[in-house]
Amino acid sequence: MKQNVKQIVEQVIEDVKAKNPLQEEFHQTVEEVLTSLIPVLEKNPNYIKYKILDRLVEPDRQIMFRVPWTDDKGEIHINRGFRVQFNSAIGPYKGGLRFHPSVNLSIIKFLGFEQIFKNSLTGLPIGGGKGGSDFNPKGKSDIEIMRFCQSFMTELYRHIGPDVDVPAGDIGVGGREIGYLYGQYKKIRNSTDQGVLTGKDLTFGGSLARIQATGYGVIYFVEEMLKEAGKDLKDKTIVVSGSGNVAIYTVKKAQELGAKVVAMCDSDGYIFDEEGIDVELIRQIKEVERKRIKEYAMRKPSAKYFEGNKGIWTVKADIVLPCATQNEIDLESAKIIVENGTIAVGEGSNMPCTNEAIKYFLEKGVLLAPAKATNAGGVATSALEMAQNSMRLSWTFEEVDEKLKDIMINIFKKTRDAAKEYGYGTNYLAGANIAGFIKVADAMVAEGIV
Ligand code: NDP
Repeated sequence: MKQNVKQIVEQVIEDVKAKNPLQEEFHQTVEEVLTSLIPVLEKNPNYIKYKILDRLVEPDRQIMFRVPWTDDKGEIHINRGFRVQFNSAIGPYKGGLRFHPSVNLSIIKFLGFEQIFKNSLTGLPIGGGKGGSDFNPKGKSDIEIMRFCQSFMTELYRHIGPDVDVPAGDIGVGGREIGYLYGQYKKIRNSTDQGVLTGKDLTFGGSLARIQATGYGVIYFVEEMLKEAGKDLKDKTIVVSGSGNVAIYTVKKAQELGAKVVAMCDSDGYIFDEEGIDVELIRQIKEVERKRIKEYAMRKPSAKYFEGNKGIWTVKADIVLPCATQNEIDLESAKIIVENGTIAVGEGSNMPCTNEAIKYFLEKGVLLAPAKATNAGGVATSALEMAQNSMRLSWTFEEVDEKLKDIMINIFKKTRDAAKEYGYGTNYLAGANIAGFIKVADAMVAEGIV
């Protein structure tokens, strides 16, 4: 049976590669997740009988559409829109929208696949989905962003709904974009279904602490992981990549707990500030003024700016927290990080480490907090936003933050316990895959072959 299960898993991975050629990011996540599930499948033959793996890797549906829009000079542009509704075994599809020129079907499918397990780990009733566009928001005027969002929603609206599919933000999609998307949805549907999108402004159904949730959650998870190893965040030197939503609030919470963050980046370059990053200044430059991170070094004398962002991983730190994008840390960077004496890596962005980098960290005994558990605080708080919308009430910041913290501590416990139970020790990546998988697989068995 043991050999047989391994062969079955390998066959599913081969089939995914053959059926979805050139979707490298999707292959990467499928290979990483499925391989770690072998001991679970050996223990529960029903998962093989009911073809859970084959069903999981095939999205319920994949929607691709044209998004025409007109710029301020009157020129017409055509972008491609995506929504992949991956799995609804435990609840409505839920997952963000990414607007970035690198977006393609492979990126959306890798994010959607990861989202299935992440959402399951939160313990809340939400399925997995993801969407976005290859639209580049950089340098666009506010009105251009609005026109694009309206056009995007003019197609998307027919596929979503508070009990069907609930999108949110991701790279390039923040509160401003969610506002324009919601406005257009409301106009077309003549409905104030606030629960159709999350990450909304507080004036029309948004939740307090949603902006902070992913970053704060990253730190709550990392704190638990360190505690388990008899360590903490106090006085630790930290490097955080990115300077967007996740990165900013990760830095803020890490600093609150006594850590010193010395480097951050954007897609052009990174800054090193030996005095510790002034996160309010970063927020002002990136969130408010929407400028480049090099501005920081112009305004803060203790900081230096370096072109290119791979160099950020050469900065010596006790803990590194990638919070920008996928595959930021390859094997070469992983080797430098280990050489620098780093004790823990916490994945704030989705799939920030290549499979080779992950293997290397685990071999070298570096604690790895896996993305699908570590950054689940964002979607968990989105589910809390949906709950508040259904009840037509809003909780205080403290209430939401407390619920978020409880959820993150629970996710850590589930992850740790699953890793232990299935012989993975402190391999929390395998633990998160397994704990997320079992709930979804059991629901798929119970719901029959659909
Ligand atoms: P933002 O758009 O707010 O910020 C992204 C940041 O990463 C920016 O600083 C951006 O730089 C930088 N970045 C993007 N691409 C690259 C690249 N190729 N190289 C280096 N830097 C890059 O996105 P979020 O903070 O929302 O998302 C960051 C990550 O966290 C993503 O992987 C996302 O999927 C994940 N995530 C987000 C959640 C959320 O609630 N927002 C929830 C869970 C996961 P620049 O300004 O130059 O574009």
